[in-house]
Amino acid sequence: MGPLQIVLGTLAVLLLVVSVVYATKAVRAMLRIFRTGQPDPTRSGPVGPRLKTLAVESLGHTRMLKWSAIGAAHWFVFVGFYGLFLTLVEAFGEVWNPAWHLPLIGEWSLWNLFADLIGTATILGILYLIVRRQLDHPRRKGRDSRFAGSNEGRGYFVEAVVLTIGICILLIRAIKVAADLTDAPAWSHPVSGLLANVVPASPDLLSVVAFVKIVVSLGWLITISRVLNMGVAWHRFSAFFNIYFKREDDGGQALGPLPAMTSGGKPIDFEDPGEDDVFGRGKIEDFTWKGMLDFTTCTECGRCQSQCPAWNTGKPLSPKMVIMDLRDHLYAKAPYLTGVTKASDEAPDFADFTTLEPSDEQVWASGYARIEGTNDAQAHRPLVGTLEEGGVIDPDVLWSCTNCGACVEQCPVDIEHVDHIMDMRRYQTLIESSFPSEAGVMMRNLENRGNPWGVGGNVREEWMKDLDFEVRQVEGAIDDDVEYLFWVGCAGAIDDRAKKVTKAVAELLHIAGVEFAVLGNGETCSGDPARRMGNEFLFQQLAQENVETLNAVFEERPAGRRKIVATCPHCFNSIGREYPQLGGDYDVVHHTQLLGQLVEEGRLTPVTPVDRKVTYHDPCFLGRHNKVYTPPREILDSVQGLSTQEMHRCKDRGFCCGAGGARMWMEEKIGKRINVERTEEALDLDPDVISTACPFCITMLSDAVTSKQQAGEAKDHVEVLDVSQILLRSMAPAGAPGTASGPGVGTEPDDPAGTGSAATEHS
Ligand code: SF4
Ligand code: SF4
Repeated sequence: MGPLQIVLGTLAVLLLVVSVVYATKAVRAMLRIFRTGQPDPTRSGPVGPRLKTLAVESLGHTRMLKWSAIGAAHWFVFVGFYGLFLTLVEAFGEVWNPAWHLPLIGEWSLWNLFADLIGTATILGILYLIVRRQLDHPRRKGRDSRFAGSNEGRGYFVEAVVLTIGICILLIRAIKVAADLTDAPAWSHPVSGLLANVVPASPDLLSVVAFVKIVVSLGWLITISRVLNMGVAWHRFSAFFNIYFKREDDGGQALGPLPAMTSGGKPIDFEDPGEDDVFGRGKIEDFTWKGMLDFTTCTECGRCQSQCPAWNTGKPLSPKMVIMDLRDHLYAKAPYLTGVTKASDEAPDFADFTTLEPSDEQVWASGYARIEGTNDAQAHRPLVGTLEEGGVIDPDVLWSCTNCGACVEQCPVDIEHVDHIMDMRRYQTLIESSFPSEAGVMMRNLENRGNPWGVGGNVREEWMKDLDFEVRQVEGAIDDDVEYLFWVGCAGAIDDRAKKVTKAVAELLHIAGVEFAVLGNGETCSGDPARRMGNEFLFQQLAQENVETLNAVFEERPAGRRKIVATCPHCFNSIGREYPQLGGDYDVVHHTQLLGQLVEEGRLTPVTPVDRKVTYHDPCFLGRHNKVYTPPREILDSVQGLSTQEMHRCKDRGFCCGAGGARMWMEEKIGKRINVERTEEALDLDPDVISTACPFCITMLSDAVTSKQQAGEAKDHVEVLDVSQILLRSMAPAGAPGTASGPGVGTEPDDPAGTGSAATEHS
């Protein structure tokens, strides 16, 4: 041990002490901040399944690998970070004594091979990620870059640290080989063995490189300990906890049902709410600790942003920036939350505080970093508000969300964007009465008429009139011989285009000999539009009413025989997966699932070729939210003559039609219309039919197709049809409208599915 080793070794130990002190303070500060959030007792168990999910998602990188090459590169960096932690321990010994090895495993050939290969893979992996970041950089792609709005400086910092450490690992190993300081066999250091030919055989240099490795590693730790909102670095620790504590203990994503509104960790009783109950999220501290962990864990990778239909059509909403804004505000407000600093009694003038200038990539209206740093303004800013109000999240951001779930689907660290957005909407609607005015009309209609259109009278039974068979209606308990209750839904009973689908499904069930019945005027809205507007009170009213009706209908039936078929994915989601929160447990299927099963069982046999080119659009609440991707496609595959082609964005990466999240009832004033964007993607395939399985998608896509046709940008014969309408067409005799020799599918005004009397023909 020479003077160099003594100096460097002493400095390394001092640095270690400082970094441990900083890191301990940082973790304690973070935990103190999380404790200011609301409790959530649902997140810790059951331990076994949660640990399994954690192992699968982290070791298997199952979410990351959806982005295959990037996922693979990140996997090596991840394995290198944890797997080669012992090389940092070894570096502390090597600073003092260049010949030092880890006890027990230091000379073990397999450990050496692992360190050599993973060290190399870490360097290659991070180089690939560095190149990708540059290729995807906002300076090249502008708003289309997934990194638009991310903090690039922090990304570079982390990349530089990983690259430097990887290089140090290989250099140390190479110098050891060159200086003959290792007894490990040559085959166990294939890469560093090669490098050994070009590095000096200098033990002093080895100590210097080991010191550099320590300085870079601990410098990184000290830096992130001082910057708690550096998610691109902190996710290396917090992601494990975020995945373990995710909403669904079976490993599923935070999609499908919206959780009940909670306060203090308990669902709010809307009939007798507590005086202190917090309705939704009106302040950053109204989020639960898990919400705060979500914000902390965001890596700013931008996968969510790249898939968001709102962002991709020029709206100010980016799910990434929502999470970043909430995170930055949380940490800026932290001293006020934890009682370290006291806020003034009166809100200051927000204009007096430093604001960041928007760059080309950032969207001013998004509220991105409007007010910087910890100051009195942070203590008083409204969570949702305009620029003038100093809001953290702009109202235009909040109300642009279609609840499509693409962000949640893509997020590699299981952040629950939709739930957070909905919780903020709940506060805005219930407490502030602040929401787009046009949606107020829809909610009044729901209150007064039980449907979003506000149609009065006994309209829910009119669709049956054109059928040439009688549809059974339930009065009281359902008859024992009826297998399915057909939930028609508001759109299915009122909207002209959706009524055609309702009739097509009824005809198909009739053909297949399925006994079904409807509630007719006994139905009321499932409550989905109210819930997605944040009006939980109204949702509870509507849902409770339906639960009472349905419980009476199925009173005598055990689980497994409380069967409901719904054509609307929003009803399907609400009744099947949200009503259990209100005591309504039913076996709900979407019509595509039931029809697919009937085809498979041979109870529906498509016989007539339908000579059309079709592309299928996945409804978000059927696909991403409920993972029903295959049945609609299988139905289309069963129809002879059809040629199907997938759109570029399909299945779990499907692009929303723009109607979800109650956006159906709001005007789309900013950016390009989402339905037009989606329709253009479909039209690029030159289809005859754009097929889907949701009444709202049909409306949105049909409107866009019509406007394209009027502009001469789409062929006149292009139609938008539910898969059931196409299936019904294929049940019709050859030569009927829409078949290989027929003129159209489902276009005739009084021949809703384009089938003539298919039911009569086949029953
Ligand atoms: S749910 Fe869809 S629209 Fe809403 S933020 Fe996520 S990706 Fe964007
Ligand atoms: S996908 Fe998840 S981690 Fe990546 S930017 Fe979006 S929220 Fe953050």
